[in-house]
Formats: sequence, C-alpha cells, structure tokens
Amino acid sequence: MYTEPKIALDCPSCGESIYAALSWFKQAYTSCPHCQQGLAAGQFEALVAALEQAMDESIDELLHGPASGGCCGKKSAGQGGCCSDKSDPGVI
Ligand SMILES: [Zn+2]
Repeated sequence: MYTEPKIALDCPSCGESIYAALSWFKQAYTSCPHCQQGLAAGQFEALVAALEQAMDESIDELLHGPASGGCCGKKSAGQGGCCSDKSDPGVI
C-alpha cells in the first residue's frame, strides 16, 4: 500500500546526486554510491526532515485538497470553472 518515496540529495563529499529511497538516507551509517565516502545519517537529517514535511503537506493536499467539481475550495464551480469568478453576490 505504502510505497516508499525516492528522493535525491547531493553527496556532501563529492557533490554527486544520490537517488535512493527515503529510508536509505536514514541509515545510521552508509556510503555514497559515487565516491564510496562514508556518510552518517546526521548529514542528511535536516534535509530529509524538510523533505518529509514537504511530502506530508502535499499528501495532505491530495487528501483534503480541492474536491471534484471545483477549485479554490469552492463547492459550486460555474461554467468555465471558478478562480476567475470574482462576482460573489454575498459580498459587495
Ligand atoms: Zn559522494
């Protein structure tokens, strides 16, 4: 059900982009596939945390985002869609 997202982070040693599963970057100790330099999990910790938060937010948007039939959170999308519909009779 849950597929682990893959992310790309730059190796702090050689600068090459490492593309691997999220958990790969969380290993206590690993090594860069490009330069074989040892990498501690802490080196990616902040970046991984930021990415995870960004993913959480985008997943949240997928779950609670615009419902079918309209954007902007409006329930009643007129013909041609909303977003350009500035004429709200309730607000003058
Ligand atoms: Zn490297």
